Amino acid sequence: MTDATDAVETPTPRRKPKPEITTIAGRPLKPSTLMMGHGYDPALSEGSLKAPIFLTSTFAFENAAAGKRHFEGITGKRPGGAEGLVYSRFNGPNQEILEDRLAIWDGAEDALSFSSGMTAITVMLLAYCEQGDVIVHSGPLYAATEGFVAKVLSKFGITYIDFAAGATREEMDDVLARAKAQAAENGGKVAMIYLESPANPTNALVDIEAMHGARNAAFPADGPPIAIDNTFLGPLWQRPLDNGADIVVYSLTKYVGGHSDLVAGSIAGAKKWMDPVRALRNTMGGICDPNTAWMLLRSLETVELRMERAGKNAEKVCAFLRDHPKVDGIGYLGFISDPRQKDIFERHCSGAGSTFSLFIKGGEAEAFRFLDNLTIAKLAVSLGGTETLASLPAAMTHLSVPDERKAALGITDNLVRISIGIEDPDDLIADFDQALGKV
Ligand SMILES: *Cc1c(COP(=O)(O)O)cnc(C)c1O
Repeated sequence: MTDATDAVETPTPRRKPKPEITTIAGRPLKPSTLMMGHGYDPALSEGSLKAPIFLTSTFAFENAAAGKRHFEGITGKRPGGAEGLVYSRFNGPNQEILEDRLAIWDGAEDALSFSSGMTAITVMLLAYCEQGDVIVHSGPLYAATEGFVAKVLSKFGITYIDFAAGATREEMDDVLARAKAQAAENGGKVAMIYLESPANPTNALVDIEAMHGARNAAFPADGPPIAIDNTFLGPLWQRPLDNGADIVVYSLTKYVGGHSDLVAGSIAGAKKWMDPVRALRNTMGGICDPNTAWMLLRSLETVELRMERAGKNAEKVCAFLRDHPKVDGIGYLGFISDPRQKDIFERHCSGAGSTFSLFIKGGEAEAFRFLDNLTIAKLAVSLGGTETLASLPAAMTHLSVPDERKAALGITDNLVRISIGIEDPDDLIADFDQALGKV
């Protein structure tokens, strides 16, 4: 007896151009070129040059057998997700185009979009962890990520071991050995190695290549995936999959969205790493909505331009701030003095980014005076937008971090975090100069 679904030709998702062009005369096209059209065929949408926003909760099947076949993809009976569109909690044209284009930047096979960076992180961790498992993570992490691991996953018997961002290979070998012992004791496994580099707000870098080596040595077969939050330097200045990471994580709210007007997240990597997360996203929801996906497609067309300009601006601004008499130091990746950190930077990063910490001479009062006198730079948390933002982590994003931990992480009362935008760099310098003059 044959399965009725076998009689149906594998349907091509209707939005896909045939064939998809990714090379010309054997030359692979660059991401900046592919952002204008990859994954979308105007002929399938009345010739509309840009993808319409598909505001629908559900999709009509070609026939009953195709519906069954699509559900086999959704439920995991067939790996790799659904071949067609089913229901908007699972997928949609705008999200699929976005995911195809996001994967390109990191050289990934597949990507998944989410309603926020934290949704991406939490659904991914839940997909990989079971009771008794251990997560190994670098520190510090984005506060909500650290809180989710320590306070939420712990309710389900999942524990963690953390290590300092700058750790050496030997220290990584040691932390993995301890994690294996802890997992054995708890009747679980080491489920995931989770990195964030550079760390916020210290800009400390994690050696991804060393962790790749340490993971492979500790787990010759079936080791845990290495995931990394690449929000601060990606997708332009760091491509962690090239350095041995398995999954790249983004808050698309930051540089990728880039205009401080949306909240979204994503992960990217090989299909085998995406499939368990896609299955849980299908169950829990949390996929990016079509309107936000459309805005991200627009953002991706200029992400390289915006990041290049912001990076150049930051270089100029930091060169000015470095020697200013009211400045006590600057944590900018372009000025690393520590040889170990410099070595990691040179092996992993192609740019110094545009987010850095500035230490104002004095304490909180002096930092407040500086912030309150800025005119172009806005006083707000977040980063990676077209406009320059400044904040005081000790009094804002990291207010709830205990004093000893703040001290250990170097989060002092005079540390101002700055994210440089794409304004005129000389205007920015003039603004920083006059605000420092009031300190
Ligand atoms: C902002 C941020 C997140 C969380 O992303 P949301 O989109 O706000 O949920 C995670 N990691 C880093 C490094 C971030 O900067």
